[in-house]
Amino acid sequence: MAVERTLTILKPDCVRKNLIGTVTAQIQEAGFSIKALKLTRLTKETAGGFYAVHKERPFFGELVEFMSSGPCVPMILEKENAIEDFRALIGATNPAEAEEGTIRAQFADSVGENIVHGSDSVENGKIEGAYFFAESEVVANNS
Ligand code: ADP
Ligand code: MG
Repeated sequence: MAVERTLTILKPDCVRKNLIGTVTAQIQEAGFSIKALKLTRLTKETAGGFYAVHKERPFFGELVEFMSSGPCVPMILEKENAIEDFRALIGATNPAEAEEGTIRAQFADSVGENIVHGSDSVENGKIEGAYFFAESEVVANNS
């Protein structure tokens, strides 16, 4: 299996619920290595740009409002098979449909406020990582 990178965001609900530490611990226990991390607050423009693929969807306005409603924590994570394994760790978009034990099943309130983002492909992981981090903010290794 190839070593891959994925971009996650601990969303504003995760930060508001004081779950940064708990969720990050679960991510690390699952074998993901943190290559970049910051606490930041997205503007509506930045949130809308990140989710531009969804701009025609009925929930886009709500999504932009939510993602810009408070601080969030983007991270670049690395692991073998990171894209698929991270999606498995967080569970389905709708927490009501997420498998027991997944991060969204444990902590999310709704399909909109679902605690974490995870990239859906290696290519999008690269694009999304670059959306939040300059090359100089990504560590070469964690040793
Ligand atoms: P995922 O985050 O699991 O990849 P999507 O890419 O389909 O899910 O959607 C991006 C984000 O948009 C979701 O994580 C969620 O915050 C929001 N979202 C998706 N579907 C809905 C919906 N039906 N109603 C409200 N918000 C939604
Ligand atoms: Mg998605």
